[in-house]
Amino acid sequence: MDSTIMDYNLNIRAIFWRVEKLYSNQEIISRTYEGIKRYTYRDFSLRVRKLASFLKQKGLAGERIATIAWNTHRHLELYFAVPLLNGILHTVNVRFHPTEMDYVIKEMGDKAIFKDKDIEYKNDSITSFILDEKYDEEVEVQEPFAEFPDVDEKQGAIACFTSGTTGKPKGVIYSHRSVFIHSLSLMAKDVLGISSSDTVMTIVPMFHISGWDTPFASLMTGARLVLPGPRPKAEDIVNMIKSFGVTIAIAAPTVWIDVVHYVEKEKGDLSPLKAVVTGGAEPPLGLIKKLSEYGVKTYHAWGMTETEAIATINKSDDINRLSEQGYPIPGIETALIDVDGKELPWDGRSVGELVVRGAFVTKRYFNSPSNILHNNTWLRTGDVVKIKEDGSIKVVDRLKDLIKSGGEWISSVDLENAIMSYEKVLEAAVVGVPDEKWGERPVAFVVKKPGVEVTEEEIINYLKSLNMFAKWQLPDKIIFIDSIPKTSTGKLDKKAMREMVKKFIEKKG
Ligand code: ADP
Repeated sequence: MDSTIMDYNLNIRAIFWRVEKLYSNQEIISRTYEGIKRYTYRDFSLRVRKLASFLKQKGLAGERIATIAWNTHRHLELYFAVPLLNGILHTVNVRFHPTEMDYVIKEMGDKAIFKDKDIEYKNDSITSFILDEKYDEEVEVQEPFAEFPDVDEKQGAIACFTSGTTGKPKGVIYSHRSVFIHSLSLMAKDVLGISSSDTVMTIVPMFHISGWDTPFASLMTGARLVLPGPRPKAEDIVNMIKSFGVTIAIAAPTVWIDVVHYVEKEKGDLSPLKAVVTGGAEPPLGLIKKLSEYGVKTYHAWGMTETEAIATINKSDDINRLSEQGYPIPGIETALIDVDGKELPWDGRSVGELVVRGAFVTKRYFNSPSNILHNNTWLRTGDVVKIKEDGSIKVVDRLKDLIKSGGEWISSVDLENAIMSYEKVLEAAVVGVPDEKWGERPVAFVVKKPGVEVTEEEIINYLKSLNMFAKWQLPDKIIFIDSIPKTSTGKLDKKAMREMVKKFIEKKG
């Protein structure tokens, strides 16, 4: 039987209604090359309407539009104006190589590019706009766009490509509905719990997975939003936390490692900050503990491009449990399967692949007709996990990063975290390298803290002293380097590291 409830599209227009009508004096603060820009929700909404008219005037209403931009208010205005006109905002990863940018822009069929001025990229085949003060003026003189269409919630709103660490980038398009529901889910107290009394800083890039939808969630609930602009360094982040009273900030663990290191070195403080949201990779326990010493809680999130970022969360008060990826957020279901696709029990011991489904989970890639779901139901995540009886998930490793040695498995993540818990180590990454006898063997890359000396033997002895690993699980070799190669989204670039080991071994003969 039909319900008696009215039809109401969960679209960007419905989010925009809130931004324009409610908390109109709330602020958006943005760091740009020209300095700090502060304006109210009221002024922001007016700009969005003017930008919509600008797009219409240029023949770009309802089209696919590429942005190659940092986290700024100008990018945020496009986040609204483009989908409000039933177009798709395609956020291009600023760290892509120009040939990759060419590829994704062509693949998506974008009609125009809006680009920050410091990003080197030229594409003569489409109209480009530079996001600078001249552009601001051109938008400013427009009449505000009067009436936005009520876009069907199933239409695409924001597009993004995977980082291509495992082949060519693949396109994913989030719908109006998925953005709405995901943002709503993020606001829940047991998820991020963002409220109108928070000042949120989205450090995760708006050019990848729409800043984990945290700009939308923040504006939906009336929070103050801080956007850290081009290439923010630890110093910038710490200064902004202090100056603007940031209470909750979202960034990958590598960013927090840098921030904590900076605060230690400069005797800085993070006093306004209540919590950091971190994910994309497992945050090392040492980092969580350090943050806690500064009075900052860690909300550990798990997700992927295909789940519109955050899909599980752990906000435990017990620090020792915070390395778990936690519980699926409302809108997501999880299950555990073995190699044959058979369901495994949630007993905290059975190891299998995590599969997910839900209101913001991808079913197929852009420009590809085939449904990627297992049994037409579940998205295979490629993550090897255990699930506790109460539903909390613990990632063991990514399928492709597990080290297969002598018919047994070694978790690269466990080794990395153990090495990083050593006081002289800043960062570590472990990869499997081909080995004639064992199939694969672990090799560790280590970045030591500045000003200290540390040897391979010392680290191996430390690992032994932890009593966590069997002898055969310890790395065969430790290579000291100045910095760990990272992917365009700040993850350990294991592909690059495997290449480095190969070269290292060849050189040694
Ligand atoms: P890419 O690595 O190609 O950039 P994604 O950004 O979509 O792709 O990364 C998703 C993957 O990142 C997940 O499948 C998982 O392996 C890893 N990941 C994300 N969050 C966490 C976390 N909290 N702990 C461990 N691994 C994580």
